[in-house]
Amino acid sequence: MPKNAYPAALKRVVAALSKLPGVGEKTAARLAMHLLRAPEGEALELGNALMELKEKIQLCRRCFAFADQESCPICAEAGRRQGQIMVVAEPGDLLAIEKVGWYQGLYHVLGGLLSPIEGVGPDDLRLMELLDRVMKEEVQEVILALNPSLEGESTTTYLAQELKPLGVKVSRIAYGLPMGGDIKYADQQTLKEALSHRVAT
Ligand SMILES: [Zn+2]
Repeated sequence: MPKNAYPAALKRVVAALSKLPGVGEKTAARLAMHLLRAPEGEALELGNALMELKEKIQLCRRCFAFADQESCPICAEAGRRQGQIMVVAEPGDLLAIEKVGWYQGLYHVLGGLLSPIEGVGPDDLRLMELLDRVMKEEVQEVILALNPSLEGESTTTYLAQELKPLGVKVSRIAYGLPMGGDIKYADQQTLKEALSHRVAT
């Protein structure tokens, strides 16, 4: 059906869906058609889930992961190894690492990577918060798990420099990932290898 034949309500859904990463207009139209044909409850559930996402999800006060209370599920979980912090760039990286199910410590979400080209400096990331945690939480080890990219490398170098004077062990995950690869999209086996073979910085 040509796009101009869409009723306004359908056009609105297609337009909204095609803004999602990896979703072109064709896929957006297919998803919209699916929702239109699906039982009413299914479409409403999606709508409600999206509303709740924006209303209820906040960032953990301690590690800045997604949370629906003051603490994220990981910080709230008894039995996570205290004193060990894995530093990731984004919440999506944390979710990918958690899916592997191997790591038992805590996290710190930086909120991005240093990038002079895009104007992202140390003050734009949650660096001070990390240094603060290392000093206050009796942290013994910080594991840097940043993407193998130019930005990831320079952020790793910068963080190692800032962290070492605090007397904490700093390591980075070993990469089977190619340069330019992304933790979020790495397969689980590769990620598990990278997590379990850490190298000193
Ligand atoms: Zn947390």
